[in-house]
Formats: sequence, C-alpha cells, structure tokens
Amino acid sequence: ALWTSQTDDAITTELTELDDSVLHDDERAPGDVIVDIEYSGINYKDGLAIMGRPGVIRNYPLIPGIDLVGTIASIDTSATDAADAEPRFAVGDPVIVTGWGVGESFHGGLAERARVKSEWLVPLPSTISAARAAAIGTAGFTAMLAVLALERSGALEAEGPVLVTGAAGGVGSIATLLLSRLGHSVTASTGRPEQSGYLRSLGASDVIDRSELSAAGRPLQKQRWAAAIDAVGGATLANVLAQTNYDGAVASCGLAQSADLPTTVMPFILRGVKLLGINSVLAPLPLRETAWARLARDLDLDALDSLTTTVPLEAAIDQAALILEGGVRGRTVVDVRA
Ligand code: NAP
Repeated sequence: ALWTSQTDDAITTELTELDDSVLHDDERAPGDVIVDIEYSGINYKDGLAIMGRPGVIRNYPLIPGIDLVGTIASIDTSATDAADAEPRFAVGDPVIVTGWGVGESFHGGLAERARVKSEWLVPLPSTISAARAAAIGTAGFTAMLAVLALERSGALEAEGPVLVTGAAGGVGSIATLLLSRLGHSVTASTGRPEQSGYLRSLGASDVIDRSELSAAGRPLQKQRWAAAIDAVGGATLANVLAQTNYDGAVASCGLAQSADLPTTVMPFILRGVKLLGINSVLAPLPLRETAWARLARDLDLDALDSLTTTVPLEAAIDQAALILEGGVRGRTVVDVRA
C-alpha cells in the first residue's frame, strides 16, 4: 500500500508492506465489507494528498486513494441491520467506491485491500470492466454528475456550444467525451495547445487557449456558451459566468486555478445564468446509481481507453507529483497488484 504519514516537519508518502491489522482500525477503516482491490487511480485530490498538501487527509497516517474498484472478499453479516432483509451484495461481487471520505478520513484505494461500508458500494455495471471503471473513477463520475446537473437545468436543450475548462485533465477529458457523444458542440479550453488533436479526438469541435479565460474580466461579456463544465474555478469561472448565454448554466466542479470566485451578481440577475455546484464525495446512492448507469450507456469505452494511462502502485507517487504540475493528460489508473 501507499502510506502517508505526518511528522512535526513533513508529510511523506511511501510504498510499504502492511498486514491486515490496518483493516481492524475501526476509526480509519470502519465497515462491514472487505474488498480485494484491483485498481485505483490518481485524481487531482490524490495528488494533493500524496504530495503532502494540507486539506485532503484528515487522519494521519492513512492509505491515500479516493477511488477503488475490486471484488468483495468478505461481508461481516453481524454488522448488517437485521431489518435489511435483502442484502445488496454477495462475496465475489465486483464493486466501485468513490468518495465518502475514503482516502481522506478513511484508508483508501492505493492498496491491495480495503475495509469499507456496504452503503458506500456501487455495483460494477456489467458492461464496464474493473480497469475501465477505475479509468472513469471520481473524475469521470464527477463529469457525469455535471452533465446530469446541466440536463436538469434545461441548459443543454438550448442552441449553442458547451464549454469545458481544464479540458485535457481527468474531469475535462471525460466531460468533453460525454458531451460530444450526447450531440453537443463542445469547446475545450486548455493551457496545453499541443493537446488540441487529442481534444478533437474526444469530440471537441473547437479548442481555445485557457489564457483567454484566466485573467480578470468584465462582469458581463459577449454571450458565447449555452452551458459549461468548469474544473478550474477562479477568474476562469468568473469569465465563464460572464460569457454564458441568457438562461444558461455552469456546473462548477473544481479549483485547479483557484478556490476564489471573483464575480458579481450580474450574470445571475441580468441573464438568469445558473451556477450549479457539483459534489461527488457525498452524492447519495440513487444519484450514484443513475450516474453509473448513464456512464455505462453514454460513455464511449474505446475512447475512454485512449485517454487512460495505467501505472503500477510503485509509480503512483510520481504520478501524484505530475498531476499537481498539470502534466497528466486524461486519466491515470493504478494497477495495485502490478
Ligand atoms: P486534473 O486531471 O489535474 O485536471 C485539471 C486540469 O485543469 C489540468 O489538466 C489543466 O487542464 C487545468 N489546470 C491546471 N492548472 C490550472 C491553472 N492554474 N489554471 C487553469 N487551468 C488549470 O484534475 P482532475 O482530477 O480532473 O480534477 C479537476 C478539478 O476538479 C480539481 O480541482 C479537482 O479537485 C476537482 N474535482 C472536484 C470534484 C467534486 O466532487 N466537485 C470531483 C473531482 C475533481 P489543461 O491542461 O487542459 O489546461
């Protein structure tokens, strides 16, 4: 497993051998289900945790990794509520866990085993392999939540391009892929112009340089976007709001540029623009099941393979450093048993 620990002057992560006693830690590994993990991944948040940035891990020492995909090894039925007549899972079932504080407050997915709560589990859809589910991971799940929120707002029924910011990253790549396969004209914003061909291969019809959006701008600007999915925050999100069409909507999922939002109420009160917050960590189970069913239906899995890099556990720390530098394209899967 990876093991992230804190001393007086440093937070460090190392690859180490652990035994199952870590799974008996009721504080860091609460739950009734042991999962044999096959794959995890490196999300931006994992980068922050592994590289010792404050604010993600709340309970040192901890196994990082906010995603895990694997097979149920055992279920402690004594912990199951007797009123729970129909158990949702059996030993051997393939399952996905994202969020719920895994890799933040509880031992996470960058290990060969985890002890988790059965209510955190989503069954692996039959058409998605374990490796591809990890390629989707929190990033792809979040992109789908953003698409669902935009659909609920009605903004995707309007004419006009849909903007994706941070497009060459994990959330952005899968958002671009999903929106284009759903028939929308997608404009991808990236700081890496060399990734234009890649973004067009995912279905973007236009690619813009993120410098067009990243500096402070006027509170209302020329209307350009029917809707947007923003992974970046900061002045970029303020400009996206200022450029969104009348009655359009913007799904805010990330803060790769900044957690600030230097905007005014003008886009909201003069254009009826809607700002939709996306939180993947605490998404309730019915929404998770809807999102994974839509991913199974709408995501082009061959294209998903084209945006995925798979690494062994021993390479996960280097990948964490790389994602914080903005150097990862698409998604990184960690094969924890390689
Ligand atoms: P990622 O793969 O690193 O993607 C982030 C992308 O943002 C980068 O690839 C880069 O895209 C762009 N970017 C990086 N630094 C930037 C800067 N200074 N200014 C403007 N753009 C910048 O990370 P991810 O895992 O997809 O996550 C993306 C964001 O969403 C993160 O902030 C993450 O914490 C957040 N997130 C939130 C949720 C939620 O539940 N709300 C879930 C998942 C992720 P280009 O190279 O194309 O410019």
